[in-house]
Amino acid sequence: MYLAGHLLASITLAKIAHKPLKVGFFPLAIAAMAVNLIDADHLVYYYRDSGVGNSFLLHPLHQTWAFLGLAVCMLALVLKTWQNLIFGIFFALMLHYGLDLLGNLVNYNLEFVLGFEVLCLVVLMLLFRNDEQRLKYYIFFVSLWLICNAVLGFQTMILHWQPNETRAVYLTSVILNVIVIAIFWILFKPKNE
Ligand SMILES: [Zn+2]
Repeated sequence: MYLAGHLLASITLAKIAHKPLKVGFFPLAIAAMAVNLIDADHLVYYYRDSGVGNSFLLHPLHQTWAFLGLAVCMLALVLKTWQNLIFGIFFALMLHYGLDLLGNLVNYNLEFVLGFEVLCLVVLMLLFRNDEQRLKYYIFFVSLWLICNAVLGFQTMILHWQPNETRAVYLTSVILNVIVIAIFWILFKPKNE
């Protein structure tokens, strides 16, 4: 999947999993979104990937997915106080890889990718329907979706920047990921923490 899909799915996971895992929604959402920064590995061999390549064959943090997953699990054994949050991070990591596998399966078909993103938006709307800050969340989700896709779409479809010819596209994606986390932090950090 691309950035917007990964981020929306991460927030969906955090909303669904935070209660069973007994961790706060906010820290889990931040951690789950930050997991998607593993896509920064695309900056190393950007010239191998036109944007629809198989990340598991091309990029270091995807090639080594099993080791990374194992390392996170082992961390949970060592850092017992953080165990539940670390399990949440493990889920988010597997979600990221799972969505990349799904992307490969459909060859990053744009209609499928956008359809998945819209599905995430709908699920998020439902999950947050009783939240007292729902309007703020809704505006955040839709803005995230529109802005990430508008910026990356402008670079690739209007300016015709090829991801395998310039690092700029993958770099923009990583920077957008960081900005989204920062904005989420500012907007939704619980007051009493
Ligand atoms: Zn990825």
